[in-house]
Amino acid sequence: MTRKIAILGATGSVGKSALDLIERSPERFEVVAVTACTNSEALADTARRTRAKLAVVADESRLGDLEERLAGSDCRALASEAGLIQAATADADLVIAAIVGCAGLRPVMAAVEAGKTVALANKEALVTAGLLMTRAAQSSGATLLPVDSEHNAIFQCLAGGRVDQVSKIILTASGGPFRTASAEIIAGATPTQAVAHPNWSMGAKISVDSATMMNKGLELIEARYLFGLPSSRIDVLIHPQSVVHSLVEFVDGSVLAQLGAPDMRIPIAYALAWPERMETPAQRLDLASVARLDFETPDLTRFPALRLAREALEAGGAAPIVLNAANEVAVAGFLAGRLRFPEIAEFVERVLESTDFAVPASVEEVLEIDRETRSRVEALMSEGCH
Ligand code: NAD
Ligand code: MG
Repeated sequence: MTRKIAILGATGSVGKSALDLIERSPERFEVVAVTACTNSEALADTARRTRAKLAVVADESRLGDLEERLAGSDCRALASEAGLIQAATADADLVIAAIVGCAGLRPVMAAVEAGKTVALANKEALVTAGLLMTRAAQSSGATLLPVDSEHNAIFQCLAGGRVDQVSKIILTASGGPFRTASAEIIAGATPTQAVAHPNWSMGAKISVDSATMMNKGLELIEARYLFGLPSSRIDVLIHPQSVVHSLVEFVDGSVLAQLGAPDMRIPIAYALAWPERMETPAQRLDLASVARLDFETPDLTRFPALRLAREALEAGGAAPIVLNAANEVAVAGFLAGRLRFPEIAEFVERVLESTDFAVPASVEEVLEIDRETRSRVEALMSEGCH
């Protein structure tokens, strides 16, 4: 029996890693739907290569181009968020959620509400709608399989154990490209320096998030909702080699960790084959050549984004949505040369301080807070135009 797969964000870093694994095992997997933001050319190529039945481009202005490129194939072309939702609820056994940002929220929520098994890379969807999504999964019977390497590591360490036997979870962080840099060097960081991650090759947004350590902050919130532990029982530990992907400490003092080469195909394969395992071409871990594993406490002064994320998690309600939306806009502003690197966290903090939204009761309310926060940060950026 082949497993039918829908890939949301098929043209991105995680999407392509998933396709690499899927295309190596055609007897095991069948791609039914693929989506992209604007790149209709790459999307059409992927759809033709995988014989997908549905290809969706979020940007409606690219639909004509997608249709032309798919002419004569059996693949249907759709556009817009409605199309993304069709892909998310297509006849698939597994939905890979690999869109970046809150833009993935509605499609992921649609998959969850349809009771799908969702391999979740799109952490921003869970950060912004954690309670709503976990409740929806409970009532629909959907399963969330973590793809983010840290959460996948924890999920693996928990196999056979129960969350009530866990005393804490420890998320590891590489520390990013500026781990050892002074505050002065960090203040002058360019987009090129910020996206040059020492261990992982990823999309631009998450690479900047790794450099500010907002990524670990988002992962803290992600862990809260995936594993149901309070902030006080989720630690962050810097581990520059990115070999230990995270750890779980149990009530008896035992600590389990998952180790492996820093290759996203390993956690993606775990979700693709779950509850089995599958072969991957990932490099094998050679601990003798790694030789040493280092650990240190994160520095919240040079990396205030991590502190802000923990505060947002503890404040609850709309704070994680505001944190995420402000960060998405500020990161885009930094990548476009409109903000300096330290201003990403400064803008997030300013917007969080001036926020008093009510706790959202629906995805529509989450998206309303997201939209309002985006326009506030846009206004702040235009005010302080450099
Ligand atoms: P990416 O930028 O490489 O790819 C993003 C994908 O989403 C692309 O297919 C793009 O076309 C699509 N997309 C972007 N904006 C969209 C929009 N507005 N509407 C619809 N589709 C849109 O990003 P990535 O690095 O693959 O990351 C994807 C997600 O996985 C992120 O949430 C990230 O935090 C998470 N993640 C990534 C990695 C990694 O190694 N890259 C590791 C862990 C978690
Ligand atoms: Mg991660």
